[in-house]
Amino acid sequence: MIKRVTLALTLPFAGHVLAEGIILQPPIDCDLSNTCYIQQYVDRDPSEGVTDYQCAGQSYNGHKGTDFALVSIADIEKGIAVFASADGTVEGTRDGMDDVEYNADTADAVKNRECGNGVQINHGQGWVTQYCHLKKGSVIVSKGQAVSAGDTIGQVGMSGRAAFPHVHLSVRKDGKVVDPFDPDGTLTCDEASHQETLWNNAPAYRPGGLISIGFSDHVPTYESIKAGTADMQNFTPSSKNLVVYGFAYGIRQNDVMRLSITGPEGEVIKQDVEMSKSQARSFRAIGKKRRWSLWPTGTYEGSVTLLRDGQTITQRATEVTIR
Ligand SMILES: [Zn+2]
Repeated sequence: MIKRVTLALTLPFAGHVLAEGIILQPPIDCDLSNTCYIQQYVDRDPSEGVTDYQCAGQSYNGHKGTDFALVSIADIEKGIAVFASADGTVEGTRDGMDDVEYNADTADAVKNRECGNGVQINHGQGWVTQYCHLKKGSVIVSKGQAVSAGDTIGQVGMSGRAAFPHVHLSVRKDGKVVDPFDPDGTLTCDEASHQETLWNNAPAYRPGGLISIGFSDHVPTYESIKAGTADMQNFTPSSKNLVVYGFAYGIRQNDVMRLSITGPEGEVIKQDVEMSKSQARSFRAIGKKRRWSLWPTGTYEGSVTLLRDGQTITQRATEVTIR
């Protein structure tokens, strides 16, 4: 009897606590397979090259954290909470910087303040986490305050050096960057070595995918897709065009985006678009112009699939009704 009790108490904790000294929970209040996603992991290549912990390219040179991204700029308004990833004490905060898309024109304004509005938490034993790009005016903790894992410390924004809305989580031990997905420091590109993470429940690795899809009556601008305002629902039988678009991340050269629209009388249009280069984020759209007659009334389904080497990475569908 005694033996059984001992086992039950010790086994679930053996891996993480003893080996690494910290357990993290994701720092964002959203569904990582739907309302948000991981845009970039820690760059594990110390040279000019780029590699994430899965030995793929989901990062950029010198990236020192994990980026948990919202699907659109409009979502900043939803006030998505940023959580403390573990118990600790707030070491420093910054707030008051604007949520603006980082580009060459705004670079000077955020120089030496690349993190934007942020929070740094000390967890003891040399462990520190830092949360960047929070929404202006959202930081609700202050220096010296004790926080618990899961406490709200602010909201997701786009301040500092951020080209899209996200929270960047940096994890450091004794001042050195640690990749929470593969904390042992040696990149082996070996599946078995990734079982030991710092997460209490590690987010699944996704090698890219779809951020959003939608319908429009014209080819939408990239600005409107990033903003979250491209998707249209109001179509009539005399709408000029029917366009479906897919907005994707982690794109690799030769990936295929398969887009289609199917209406009440069958297929309207279907096309495979080959991606000509690797890109962190991009969109593609296909559509059909209305000719002489009107669009038949009824339900239209738009479908977008991202394929790599012929295999589906993600597939999404959306609908509009023409009345
Ligand atoms: Zn980042």
